[in-house]
Amino acid sequence: MGRKFFVGGNWKCNGTSDEVKKIVSTLNAAEVPSEEVVEVVVSPPFVFLPLVKGLLRADFSVAAQNCWVRKGGAFTGEISAEMLVNLGIPWVIVGHSERRLILNEANEFVGDKVAYALSQGLKVIACVGETLEQRESGSTMEVVAAQTKAIAEKVSNWDHVVIAYEPVWAIGTGKVATPAQAQEVHFELRKWLAANVNPAVAESTRIIYGGSVNGANCKELASQPDVDGFLVGGASLKPEFVDIIKSAETNKAA
Ligand code: PEP
Repeated sequence: MGRKFFVGGNWKCNGTSDEVKKIVSTLNAAEVPSEEVVEVVVSPPFVFLPLVKGLLRADFSVAAQNCWVRKGGAFTGEISAEMLVNLGIPWVIVGHSERRLILNEANEFVGDKVAYALSQGLKVIACVGETLEQRESGSTMEVVAAQTKAIAEKVSNWDHVVIAYEPVWAIGTGKVATPAQAQEVHFELRKWLAANVNPAVAESTRIIYGGSVNGANCKELASQPDVDGFLVGGASLKPEFVDIIKSAETNKAA
């Protein structure tokens, strides 16, 4: 079975309740390919999750942007996987580079988070990606392989994992990876999964690209054989997110 195209919208730390309602009403009115062709997941800040879940069309779903690494308890300011499950939130983003770099989340910590979230029944968008310095020094694959290895060491079932390859130099910079650059890393990541997990997981796991994707560049990226969708930041707050969802039609699996 082919990998279903996946489009995630990461709203990051943006929005008021009125702005959030406006984005949702744009999405609800949009004509997009069917659920058989594309899976759409939007990720508002924690405080807006119930509002968005309540208003959003039934064929789209929601993700939290993070969760705590273990069972909840005395961890001030954190949100546990159990709480997300309790609210009926199906997805969580883990290991976003903004958390890895600004909040010093290490590879092992991210691996533990992915495993714990999965153990509680959440589906996970696990982010990996290199910095500009790492790319320029030729260590891109070494970096993303180490990040993926830390997850693979803790995870035995990959059915509910989507890997988001997000080069740090492309996030929020307007400097998108070329389709060839994205394809190269996705291909290598899939090869890594085949060799280090197993070929079936490599074949079925969706590897999506993130980093300055917009309505204008999405089609060419979507046509790459190993690009199974997108994680979108800035453009997910704008009506062009609908065009990005529609790029599922240019993907080889559609
Ligand atoms: C992101 O934060 O996951 C992201 C890809 O951001 P942007 O699309 O704004 O580069």
